[in-house]
Amino acid sequence: MHSHHIPLLPYPFRGEPVPCPVCGSEQAEVIARIDRRLKRLTTVLCGHCGLFYSNPMPTQAELDAYYRHMYRRDYQFARSGPGARHVAKKEAEARRRHDALARRFDLSRPRRFLDFGCGSGELVRHFAAQGHAAHGFEPGVAYAAHAAGAGSVEIRTGSWAEMDYPEAHFDIITCLHVLEHLRDPVGALAAMARWLAPGGLIWVEVPDMQGYPLKGFERFHFAHVLGFSSDNLVLAGQRAGLGVVERLAPTSILFARGAPAAEIDLAATVARNRAEYGRGISLPAYLGHHARRVLRRARLRLAAGRREG
Ligand SMILES: [Zn+2]
Repeated sequence: MHSHHIPLLPYPFRGEPVPCPVCGSEQAEVIARIDRRLKRLTTVLCGHCGLFYSNPMPTQAELDAYYRHMYRRDYQFARSGPGARHVAKKEAEARRRHDALARRFDLSRPRRFLDFGCGSGELVRHFAAQGHAAHGFEPGVAYAAHAAGAGSVEIRTGSWAEMDYPEAHFDIITCLHVLEHLRDPVGALAAMARWLAPGGLIWVEVPDMQGYPLKGFERFHFAHVLGFSSDNLVLAGQRAGLGVVERLAPTSILFARGAPAAEIDLAATVARNRAEYGRGISLPAYLGHHARRVLRRARLRLAAGRREG
C-alpha cells in the first residue's frame, strides 16, 4: 500500500499499451508523466475524441486485484468498512439522487433498480426503502459486505464483467463515479444497455475534466484511468447503443436505448483539453492548491469536532 503514496516512484503495476478506450483511435499524445501525488504515471490525450487515459493501462487482473482490497484504503483510508461520516454523507446524497430521478421517471410504483458499482450501498438501500426491487454490485470486498448487511437488497461482489443479470430487466440503472475507474467503458455501457428494460433510463456521472480550476497533472491519479469531457462521454454511450435523454450537467447524463443521437464536437473537445492541460501546472500553483486543500480539511475537522464535543 505504501508504494501508492511515495512520490516519484512508479505505481506497482505493469500495464499494457492500449488504443483509446472510448473511440479506438491510436492517435494519442502524452499530457503528463506524473500525477497529483507526484508519482510517475503516464496520461495521454486521445487526438480523436479528447479522452484522457492512463497509457500504459493497468491490465484487468491488476485492476481487479486493486479494487478487491486496496482502493478504499488507498483513497479513503478505510481499513475495513466505511466510516460513519462517509455513510451519513452518502445517505444524504442518495436522497438527492433518488429525488432527481423521481422528477424524470415515474417511481410511484415498484421498479427494478440497479446501482452499477454501488460502493457501501446507500443508494440501493434508499431505493429498497421506497419499495423498489433494489440491486447493486461492488468489487471491493469490505464495502460490498457492508452494503449487503442491511438485508432486503441484493448485493453481489465482483466486477461488472462477472455479473450475469437478465437482459431487459432493470427500469433504472445508475453508474455514478464508476466509469472513470474502468478500462472498458464502452463494454460496461453495453452491458448496462443489455440489462435495461424497454423505456428504462441509465444515469451515468463521472468527474468533468473541464470542471476543475487547476488543469494538468494535478487531476490525474492511479484509480481514475479515464478522464472524460461531456462529448466523449456521449460518444461512449453512443458506441454502446445509447442516446442522450438529458444532460443534467456536462458529465452527468441520462441515457436510454433508442434516444436520438446528440450533437457532439470531438475536435473542439480535443483542442480545448490540449490547450488547457498541455501547459502544465507551475509548482507554486500546485503547492498553493494543496495548501488551501489541507487548510480547508483541517477547518472542517475542527468544526466537526466542535459539534460532536
Ligand atoms: Zn478517443
